[in-house]
Amino acid sequence: MKNEIQLSLFAFDISTGLLCREEPASNGFRMLCYQCPFSEKRKRGLFCSKYRIMIRARSKYGLPQWKKTRQAILDRDHRSCHICRSGDFLSVHHVDCDPTNDVPENLVTLCERCHALVHTTAIDPGSLRSHR
Ligand SMILES: [Zn+2]
Ligand SMILES: [Zn+2]
Repeated sequence: MKNEIQLSLFAFDISTGLLCREEPASNGFRMLCYQCPFSEKRKRGLFCSKYRIMIRARSKYGLPQWKKTRQAILDRDHRSCHICRSGDFLSVHHVDCDPTNDVPENLVTLCERCHALVHTTAIDPGSLRSHR
């Protein structure tokens, strides 16, 4: 279930060679890189032996697939914060704080303020999930 979105990515086809299609900017999609013949597991994380860089999960937020997912979640949540209903400065938060788990049930729209609260205080992520 966790791999649903990753598996639907065009670049997953291993016959294309480098799974980032030789665009290191999109190379950071960690679940993608795990499947790539050029990635090496290191102590500090995953390393790309082709571009000699550490692979960071955050880079995936620049990928078209994520932008599509993000829009879908914003639409689903009527473009308002799940906690305070504000419509300003919205972001999409991973309820279980696993940035690779992009199933819709794990994603929720939050405003900047509530998002910061969720990450810095002990708001139970489970309560977000069951709220809908
Ligand atoms: Zn809010
Ligand atoms: Zn978050």
